[in-house]
Amino acid sequence: MKNLFFSCLTLLALLAVPSNASAQFRIGGKKINTTKLLNAGKDMAAAITLSDEDIARLSRESVAWMDAHNPVAADTTSYGARLKRLTEGITDADGLPLNFKVYLVTDVNAFACGDGSIRVFAALMDLMDDNELMAIIGHEIGHVVHADTKHAIKSAYLASAARNAAGAAEGSTLAKLSDSQLGDVVTAFTDARFSQKQEYAADQYGFEFSVKHGFSPYAMAKSLEKLVDLSKGAKASFVEKMFSSHPDSEARAARMREQADAWQAAH
Ligand SMILES: [Zn+2]
Repeated sequence: MKNLFFSCLTLLALLAVPSNASAQFRIGGKKINTTKLLNAGKDMAAAITLSDEDIARLSRESVAWMDAHNPVAADTTSYGARLKRLTEGITDADGLPLNFKVYLVTDVNAFACGDGSIRVFAALMDLMDDNELMAIIGHEIGHVVHADTKHAIKSAYLASAARNAAGAAEGSTLAKLSDSQLGDVVTAFTDARFSQKQEYAADQYGFEFSVKHGFSPYAMAKSLEKLVDLSKGAKASFVEKMFSSHPDSEARAARMREQADAWQAAH
């Protein structure tokens, strides 16, 4: 069993889904040892320099790959229309242009890429109300703004380059990736983890994003609380694994609720 974390990708560190039969999101259709890969990537990191431009290109190519391999909801569908309505007028984050799409898949997930692409999965939209959904989107944007995703996509690329035994990167030049290499990069993301410090900072960004765009100050707290509840209720088996690897989820939720109480008292 492997959890799907996306850090171009990585949705809330919370929202992992076991890759069972119902998982539809395509990550290359291959089973590889990502831990081994990421370690290999670390070894290569010293030898390869990727510029910000390289990383931006890699992000764009990865999103294009994922958009091509997953069912994207049209704006006329209920999912597409809902996301369009919620994100109306939210065009950039600290100057980075944003674009939003829904994948019609059953995995509970969402991710943001370094190029400003935000992708939300239909099953997550089913679970979350408008406020909670936007807080999660804000959280993901926080990872991009804080450059967490930049570092994650870089390690995934290096991991893939290591697996493909050189050639993929030479000096500071990013070689054109083949379709299967891009699949590898996307796959390597799936084991990317953010630190607790990065998650706290992204939660904080999600809180501020919610308030700024007219959503509830409790949105971030409630989305985290909902995920904690899900892990204890009927869907426990579905979300079971994510809490063994993220014991601080309840602390994150409590922290966000305190923040909302303080905001409420001051306004
Ligand atoms: Zn996160």
